[in-house]
Amino acid sequence: MISRRRALTAGAAGVVATGAGGLFVAVRDKPEPPSPPSLNADKRVLWRNWSGVEHAYPAARLAPSSEDAVADALKTAVAPVRVVGAGHSFTGLVPTSGALMTLDNLYGVARWEGDEAVVWAGTRLGALGPALAERGRAMANLPDINKQSLGGCLGTATHGTGKALKAIHGDVTALRLATVSGEILDCDANQNADVFQAAKVSLGALGVITQARLATTANRRLHRHVWVEPLEETLAKAEGRWSRHRNFEFYAVPFTDLAASITHDETDAPATPRAASTDDAFLEVLKQLRNLTRFSTLLRKAAAKALLGSAEPEEAIDEGWKLLSTERPVRFNEMEFHLPVATHLAALKEVVAAIEAERPDVFFPIEVRRIAADEAWLSPFQGGPRGSIAVHCHYKDEYDFLFSLIQPILRKHGGRPHWGKLHSLKAADLAALYPDWNAFLDVRRRLDPEGRLLNPYLKALFGV
Ligand SMILES: Cc1cc2nc3c(=O)[nH]c(=O)nc-3n(C[C@H](O)[C@H](O)[C@H](O)COP(=O)(O)OP(=O)(O)OC[C@H]3O[C@@H](n4cnc5c(N)ncnc54)[C@H](O)[C@@H]3O)c2cc1C
Repeated sequence: MISRRRALTAGAAGVVATGAGGLFVAVRDKPEPPSPPSLNADKRVLWRNWSGVEHAYPAARLAPSSEDAVADALKTAVAPVRVVGAGHSFTGLVPTSGALMTLDNLYGVARWEGDEAVVWAGTRLGALGPALAERGRAMANLPDINKQSLGGCLGTATHGTGKALKAIHGDVTALRLATVSGEILDCDANQNADVFQAAKVSLGALGVITQARLATTANRRLHRHVWVEPLEETLAKAEGRWSRHRNFEFYAVPFTDLAASITHDETDAPATPRAASTDDAFLEVLKQLRNLTRFSTLLRKAAAKALLGSAEPEEAIDEGWKLLSTERPVRFNEMEFHLPVATHLAALKEVVAAIEAERPDVFFPIEVRRIAADEAWLSPFQGGPRGSIAVHCHYKDEYDFLFSLIQPILRKHGGRPHWGKLHSLKAADLAALYPDWNAFLDVRRRLDPEGRLLNPYLKALFGV
């Protein structure tokens, strides 16, 4: 593995050397973007999200250790009251000048009901894996990383990939919701059923989910396979792979004509744990190629094929919770839309073509996934399965083109935005995309008539 990483970075250095030939010099990395002050004029402490694109100076910070304390705080704390999980969303869902509440003191598996786990919403996915595995159980699927809190995942409809696998909220069979009136509502398909369908994906706008009951699966070992091939081949085989493999996703790499594919399938073979990821080395090569050859797409593609086209495949066998998520040390900003399956790959081709025509500064791979349908009112997967397309920008790079160039393509193909990732849709756009939009707004008004939970971002989103 180390030699593979060395080979990749040495390869990039090779590009520098070849390019040098007296003609090119390595382009210096961009400076860090400016950081807001750690204290504001009122001596309030800075809060920032993971990518650094959102920040706030909350008037109060709350970390309740019981459900009753959560409900009390929702009733009495300075508004807007916003709950934060791991701060991994890219949109302005969390920032508040009022009270910022974390559920970090409410974590772990509260109890089991048969094979369903009742989990405190502050639990991070990375901690939930081993806790479920102790009982031989697992979450059916995981997102690309496991740093998120369970509450945060339900807040934005966080998902992984797999034609038959739902987003995380699709496996929630009941939840408890603390509201601004100080009540705690038990919600499932029979009790408070409308609140249940609204709260499963609710942007922290109905109250605070304190616990959720999760359906689990047997904790099986999975075989992970990662390989690079021509993008054209991936596109031709993608539908078949989604049908055949438990999990399939791919990353289309702009300016290379290549794609990296990842499959996971159940196996009884003995574990052969995964080596440390080479993803950051791969990204570094792509960044260097961008820096050195952006003036010539032809040269960039030729160099990329030479360096990356023959990358060795990766194989590993281990329990799913150890394999399905990855470490992402390189920060980025991201837009992701969820499209009808029929337009999924056509939209992707347009996105790649648009980037290659207009944005030579882009080097991050584009992530492409499939997600099964569910019925939550604000689920992007409500009403049918969806294919997702996610475009990433290095945190030092300009990302306005996501709105001006990429979003129009994804919208034209019927996409719904990921609630936690960059988009500029507002109430009227969203009402046209979600049949239950008004039902959700009714429940929101009933539970929070004075808008104690609404920050400016949510007011604009809901048209309040
Ligand atoms: C590196 C990286 C990789 C990612 N990979 C994926 C991926 O593979 N798939 C995917 O779908 N997304 C992915 N995301 C997005 C991420 O999963 C979502 O934005 C998720 O909401 C973040 O969880 P969090 O705990 O950080 O929540 P936060 O960002 O802190 O909060 C998100 C929303 O949930 C609300 N919320 C939090 N807790 C509660 C609660 N207890 N009750 C009610 N509302 C609550 C908040 O108020 C807010 O509205 C990724 C993000 C990053 C930075």
